[in-house]
Amino acid sequence: MIDTIKKLWSPGVDENPLRLRRQIALCNQVGLFGTVATLPYQLFYYFYDFATYWGVFLVNLLFMAGYLLVLPLNHRRLHSVASNVLLINGGAQLFVVTAFIGTEAGVNLFYFTLASILVFLYQHLRVQTYAFVMALFGAQYALSHFLFTREAVISPVPSPWVDIMYAGSVVGVLMLSGALLYLFRQQIDHAEDELTLSNQYLETLSNTDPLTGLANRRALDAALEREWSRLSRLSSGLAVIMCDVDHFKGFNDRYGHDGGDRCLQRITTALEGVLSRPADLAVRYGGEEFALVLPGTEEAGARLLAERLREAVERLQIPNEAAGEGACVTVSVGVSSINHVFPEVGFHGVDHLIKRADEALYQAKASGRNRVVYLAYSDRFDVDGSEQ
Ligand code: GH3
Ligand code: MG
Ligand code: MG
Repeated sequence: MIDTIKKLWSPGVDENPLRLRRQIALCNQVGLFGTVATLPYQLFYYFYDFATYWGVFLVNLLFMAGYLLVLPLNHRRLHSVASNVLLINGGAQLFVVTAFIGTEAGVNLFYFTLASILVFLYQHLRVQTYAFVMALFGAQYALSHFLFTREAVISPVPSPWVDIMYAGSVVGVLMLSGALLYLFRQQIDHAEDELTLSNQYLETLSNTDPLTGLANRRALDAALEREWSRLSRLSSGLAVIMCDVDHFKGFNDRYGHDGGDRCLQRITTALEGVLSRPADLAVRYGGEEFALVLPGTEEAGARLLAERLREAVERLQIPNEAAGEGACVTVSVGVSSINHVFPEVGFHGVDHLIKRADEALYQAKASGRNRVVYLAYSDRFDVDGSEQ
């Protein structure tokens, strides 16, 4: 039932910017509400005394058609025409109907709801214009109040029906305001949910490397900062592994850039396979360079993992003739780690840990590739902080 109603007010909503979509939906909703709110009055005129009230009945039929016209107009993307039709139709209806049955029936109270939706229907208008149209509604209300007294109207409604109508109008106005408020609340909640989701998506996107799906440099910087401050508090050890694919330029030249990309993806899978702790982070550091951040890991553990990583890539057996006949893709690995942040070494900061792992990688390359080299955080201090 609710879905059917929602479908009814959705024409013209799709494929528009979010804010315009909300305006269109609101316009359609108010159009439908206007039609429905007129119905009880129509029933009264028809069944109570059609001979007396046929005039106001017919006029109301026209206004109901005016409200419904809003839906096809929005469907045809004539959104501002639809909004104008809605407001002019509503304003005119309240005035004309009050002229027929008088202010005692309270129909003109609906001006207040019309005025309240104005702000949401015309979000692009200047404040002065809002104020002007609001004032116009206010003037119409005052005018109808003084013009259409019981004596001056065309077909007055007798008591107690007029009192019932007044009560009905008050209830109608309140219900309409309540429904609109509820819908606004819903739209705000919906917008908030969408915003949270897209923020999460953007956050993930900005921290992820598109080719491998690994974390990128941004995420690495954040992780290192976090882990470094944890290390200062807990002295739980921190290791970094840098890994670079050997002779990859030649691989690309020989097997094409797409082949190179696929190779990097397979290496990524191997790399993820050797990580076991949830806190470990694998990062695509650069083109064919990867970094691993291993919180709570000391020298022995880091060396072991680096060796496993080197073997895992070798086991992939991806041919790389560019490195020599029958050769396969291999990686060189540099490792560094630190156990405590001592005042003496602490000033170097986390960048130094990366630098040391990078130096170790350079040495691994220089000494023949496809191997692991470990360098302590500091030349002067051993990993446990004791002076060498
Ligand atoms: P080395 O053993 O000394 O590391 O030699 P190398 O050829 O691997 O070293 P170099 O840094 O000279 O070459 C890296 C190459 O990696 C250059 C570039 O063509 C390739 N590369 C970098 N990023 C990508 C990428 O995203 N996709 C592909 N297919 N290749 C990449
Ligand atoms: Mg490189
Ligand atoms: Mg390389």
